[in-house]
Amino acid sequence: MIEIPHNARERFGNARSVAFLTGAGISAESGVPTFREAQAGLWARYSPEDLATPQAFARNPRMVWEWYQWRRQLVMEASPNLGHEAIAAMERVIPKFHLITQNVDGLHQKAGSTRVIELHGNIFQNRCFREGMVLDLVLESVDPPPRCPHCGGPVRPGVVWFGEPLPQREIHEAESICGDLDILVVAGTSGLVHPAAGLPARAKAAGAFVIEINPEPTALSELADVHLRAMAGPALVALLELRV
Ligand code: NAD
Repeated sequence: MIEIPHNARERFGNARSVAFLTGAGISAESGVPTFREAQAGLWARYSPEDLATPQAFARNPRMVWEWYQWRRQLVMEASPNLGHEAIAAMERVIPKFHLITQNVDGLHQKAGSTRVIELHGNIFQNRCFREGMVLDLVLESVDPPPRCPHCGGPVRPGVVWFGEPLPQREIHEAESICGDLDILVVAGTSGLVHPAAGLPARAKAAGAFVIEINPEPTALSELADVHLRAMAGPALVALLELRV
């Protein structure tokens, strides 16, 4: 049973304009490891910063491609959890609803969310490493990584790596949403990866009430009006119950 403080119950129950900002923690209950948890098994010797950067890909494209193929497989086998489903249901009951995610796993869409702003791309997309263009490829079992059919350059996953800029349209849209909100719910993010981590401060400065859902304190906890120290699944279901 999740205890939601009275002020959050009242604000969330009556809000017209609500955005959700999600991170890797919301998919943890689906068995998709956060980067911290992913440092296990086969890949324990590498930190995500050693694998999820353009420099790492340039140095060793095969290894980075194989890490992503392993993660794609994990994500493909995963199902959305209660948290993803509660957010999908809220899209149908909240008049001005927005969903912004740092996740690349597509589980929000799998749960039925129809409008998802993906700040960090999507793991199933493929792009040319040289020219950046999105490629519609059938992946065959070739020597990894596959090659771009246009220029012969190596193919990379269509995610935003550490040190790379975010897609302009998505980050501008997210910033504009955060400038005009009643409530921002921040679920399952450590608040350490910028510029996404700056969105809660922007929302707060523009007058939004910020609710954080995370079992651990984070870089965003001080800024939040309410911190629900709980797993995303049950906490989001408890919020949904205030709207139905
Ligand atoms: P992060 O790994 O830095 O932090 C995860 C946060 O989730 C932590 O604060 C942790 O306490 C919290 N958490 C763990 N289990 C939770 C649960 N059940 N409910 C609620 N919170 C829980 O993740 P981040 O802040 O999203 O940033 C990492 C970057 O890594 C992002 O850019 C993201 O694109 C990428 N990433 C994505 C995925 C994915 O798509 N599923 C997975 C790993 C990493």
